[in-house]
Amino acid sequence: MAVRIRQSTRMGWYLMRQRLAKREKFPLIVELEPLFQCNLQCSGCGKIQHPDHVLQRRMSVEQAVGAIEESGAPMVSIAGGEPLIHPEIHIIAGELVARKKFVYLCTNALLLERKLDNFTPSPYFAWAIHIDGLRERHDASVERSGVFDKAVAAIGAAKRRGFRVSTNTTFFTHDSPKTVREVLDFLNDDLEVDEMMISPAYAYEKAPDQEHFLGVTQTRELFSQAFADGRRKRWRLNHSPLFLDFLEGKTDFECTAWGIPSYSLFGWQRPCYLMSDGYAQTYKELLESTDWSSYGRGRDPRCENCMAHCGYEPTAVLQTTRSLKQSLRALAG
Ligand code: SF4
Ligand code: SF4
Repeated sequence: MAVRIRQSTRMGWYLMRQRLAKREKFPLIVELEPLFQCNLQCSGCGKIQHPDHVLQRRMSVEQAVGAIEESGAPMVSIAGGEPLIHPEIHIIAGELVARKKFVYLCTNALLLERKLDNFTPSPYFAWAIHIDGLRERHDASVERSGVFDKAVAAIGAAKRRGFRVSTNTTFFTHDSPKTVREVLDFLNDDLEVDEMMISPAYAYEKAPDQEHFLGVTQTRELFSQAFADGRRKRWRLNHSPLFLDFLEGKTDFECTAWGIPSYSLFGWQRPCYLMSDGYAQTYKELLESTDWSSYGRGRDPRCENCMAHCGYEPTAVLQTTRSLKQSLRALAG
């Protein structure tokens, strides 16, 4: 709880500084992808289809830290590929933590127990472990049996060592309100993770499985039924209340893709983590050279079914800060 308060306070100050500086566009979190290689091959993944020479590349510590510093973002989500394959990932994370950036290291956890000694618990560092469902569902989602059990064991090991542990769950058309509730109950009550993130899967053009991505109506039905009967309040979900309202269809937003930009081996990806219409060399160049008004639902057909966190959580956070009622609601948790 103390860590959450520290993080919310830091974010509150950061947002206030942007407002005082009259900055219209700024990053809340950077999605940092220091490699694309992974030790799994999920059919719903749009990140691992690069040629071998790209999959073998690793971002240097200097490049990763330099990009985050240039952007000024207070939070970093390290993703990939599988970050724990990167031999210097603990140094990248450590350098960012030393600069008081809040770091989430997203992993499928296959290598986590083996690499745990390289990391140090900190209020600025959290694991974000990929769990798409209970055992059968998760192993089907990542297309390898035994991965769920390994991830659960890794969560226990990390918690015993004093790390902050969060989870990241992506939902597809295989899911029902019942499976959403089951996995969130399990993570919240049985594993007692610190916080949980959820997202409807984005329909990556490159993903081999194109049949199981949720449309907007299906996403709203899934979450409004899963969240019914006040359950939403008892789960430790790491999202603003307005973003959860958005998933349920209680409100609608425009996409604010510049709020959670993506930096990879190729540079700053235009316009977001999910689509690649070219790259900029700096965050400043990304802001200035992107026609943000051409993205979002109703503007670009590739955005039509998108309700992803990277586009809509920034909108929810910015709306929250503009309303006393929503700010109090977010503080109440
Ligand atoms: S674990 Fe993540 S990065 Fe690896 S293949 Fe699956 S979705 Fe892609
Ligand atoms: S709606 Fe926004 S976040 Fe989603 S794919 Fe389009 S630009 Fe990216």
